[in-house]
Amino acid sequence: METRLWKLNNSSVDDTLLQEAAQCLRDGEVVAFPTETVYGLGADGLNDKAVHKIFKAKGRPVDNPLILHIAQFEDLELLAREVSPLAKKLAAAFWPGPLTLIVKKTSIVPDSVSAGLDSVAVRMPVHPIAQRLIHLTARPLAAPSANKSGRPSPTDAKAVSEDLAGLIAGIIDGGPAKFGVESTVVDTTGRVPIILRPGSITKEMLEKVVGEVLLDPAVLGNTAVVAKAPGMKYRHYAPVAPMFLFVGTNARAAIASAAATCVKQGLKPAVLLGSSLQLAGVLAKNWQNDSVILAKNLYSWLREFDRAGSDIILAEGLSEDELGLAVMNRLRKAAGNNILRADLGQKLFVQNGTEPLFL
Ligand code: AMP
Ligand code: MG
Repeated sequence: METRLWKLNNSSVDDTLLQEAAQCLRDGEVVAFPTETVYGLGADGLNDKAVHKIFKAKGRPVDNPLILHIAQFEDLELLAREVSPLAKKLAAAFWPGPLTLIVKKTSIVPDSVSAGLDSVAVRMPVHPIAQRLIHLTARPLAAPSANKSGRPSPTDAKAVSEDLAGLIAGIIDGGPAKFGVESTVVDTTGRVPIILRPGSITKEMLEKVVGEVLLDPAVLGNTAVVAKAPGMKYRHYAPVAPMFLFVGTNARAAIASAAATCVKQGLKPAVLLGSSLQLAGVLAKNWQNDSVILAKNLYSWLREFDRAGSDIILAEGLSEDELGLAVMNRLRKAAGNNILRADLGQKLFVQNGTEPLFL
């Protein structure tokens, strides 16, 4: 299949190009588009056949449900059997924006979207191209991240094309994504909201609006618990090279020393750190002790490491408050839960997962 490319300018959204993309979507085709979180792979969310094309292009397990993207609040009422006062409050505070609400679904929502669950995930993006595209298509758009299943999410059109060129009808290029991590997913079907996936709308921000907010244990990497949504159990966001996440008070120094050992062993290591590291043979990215910079660049850096043929990736963890919770959740998953602990004055040890060769 030939994949068309529509290049758009965020500041003046061009309807003529977007009309072509919207027509493809109405015809049941699959089109990638920019959002403020990551690029989405969209299809008509009420068309079961079109939704199946998303799963096929991504190689996504069918028990991993999709998020429906809407452009106006009224559309939620078509999709949700019940919009609790809690859901209304959260939508009023954070829509349009990077917050996804889990609500009880109506029968209009195909089972392929909800993966057979009785609930559906709905979000109203704030990105002007995403909003306009949904409006012109006049359908809720089912859209997971526009990457091959398991790979780091795409934060620009080049990353989408790397994974999906030839497999989808088109890609709308709207430049780099603003936040770089996927939306916060909140279950609003119970009395107290539960964060199923942390994102740029933080737990602290939610608490200011609704008071008590719970965190699903799976968010913190607790794999012993049963996933609330089947999709939560899958390995995600993963680079080709094996990755190790370093935590603890001496993580930075431990990474520098591990990277040097890797170089001696003839490997090409890549490192992700909160400060700069200049070491011959090491590809280093510095997030300047700023979780916003790390969130925005994490996926593009992981893809860059893969393109550079890195053999091993060593990443420094960060504290899990505010945006740090979302970033650590992605780092743990990208590292396949391989976690090393390095505290000052203590020997480096494997906290979870496989023992690396440099140890
Ligand atoms: P992605 O589209 O790749 O960003 O993934 C969407 C994620 O949203 C899924 O992996 C689930 O964790 C979550 N999700 C979607 N629908 C539901 C649902 N009905 N109930 C709970 N979580 C959901
Ligand atoms: Mg995804």
